[in-house]
Amino acid sequence: MELGPLAADEIIVRMAGVGVCHTDWTAAAGTVPLPTPFVLGHEGAGTVTALGSQVSTLALGDQVVLSFDACRSCPQCAAGHPAYCVLSAALNYTGTRPDGTTTMTREGGPVHGSWFGQSSFATHAVASVRNAVRVPAAADGLPLDILGPLGCGLLTGAGTVFRVLRPRAGQSIVVFGLGTVGLSAVMAAAVAGCDPLVGVDPNPLRRRMADALGCTHTLDPAAVEDVGWSLAAITGQGADFTVDTVGSGTVVRQALEALRTPGSCATLGLQALENDITIDQGHLLMGRTLTGVIEGDAEPRVLIPHLTELWRQGRFPFERLIERFPFHRVQDAMDAARAGRVVKPVLVFD
Ligand SMILES: [Zn+2]
Ligand SMILES: [Zn+2]
Repeated sequence: MELGPLAADEIIVRMAGVGVCHTDWTAAAGTVPLPTPFVLGHEGAGTVTALGSQVSTLALGDQVVLSFDACRSCPQCAAGHPAYCVLSAALNYTGTRPDGTTTMTREGGPVHGSWFGQSSFATHAVASVRNAVRVPAAADGLPLDILGPLGCGLLTGAGTVFRVLRPRAGQSIVVFGLGTVGLSAVMAAAVAGCDPLVGVDPNPLRRRMADALGCTHTLDPAAVEDVGWSLAAITGQGADFTVDTVGSGTVVRQALEALRTPGSCATLGLQALENDITIDQGHLLMGRTLTGVIEGDAEPRVLIPHLTELWRQGRFPFERLIERFPFHRVQDAMDAARAGRVVKPVLVFD
């Protein structure tokens, strides 16, 4: 497979590691209509090894986390909401550059890349200067090979708490689903001082992890007769905030029902591009809010350095979610995540 030639604003990154995210396998299952052949992977971290002709803000040897791509000039980007860039679909989900060309070829034919502006299930990835966020060098103790999930899964959970819900210390929050996104929301809510901080998940391993990461209470939804009653017993008048990372109708309804009046629910779980659910309008009256969030509505250039600083302080210990797998064991990594044995597999390169 051949990379390049690079466009003026592109870079090549030699991967140290790349996270395996739920969105990769929903895409592999065909929910996103990608042209074949294509390369997935969108939580890459590595070292810059080549620069396009107009790249001036990065240098060879810089260590970067690759996040989602955004145009950086539309009204949404200008207002600090790159996750809602008007060119988001064209830049992240089509397999080509916006001009229709591909970043990779094989035997003269196109190989589709540009998945989240990176396609990083590879030893080297073509990204753009827009979605590469420089991180402190490994000398500062940051393990470069596991930083990739800061670009998507960890950013999504933390951004939803820090940027969208913005709880104050002492306010209550319930997080439904304790995968990477949910546990990142838990860690962020702990940083914010949320109390009670409740995690809901049927997997005991994940509940134990949530306990260790700052939950004041965890709940097995399969072990109680009524999730709503159980949560009401913990939160009193209901939660100030709820976060749904599952995306099923059942969980969204539970997340609305668990709110106090008024209160806010953020729904993040992606089941499919179209996902009809039914909610009770009665749960929204009295000033309650239901909002959807993509990528934590985060500005990666701000939030990723904030998260690495919190990690350095011991307040965002995301490495506990991660298990490293050699790249050739990608199937084992996916199986372990699907089975709930590992929260966030990261594929690492020698
Ligand atoms: Zn934009
Ligand atoms: Zn992702």
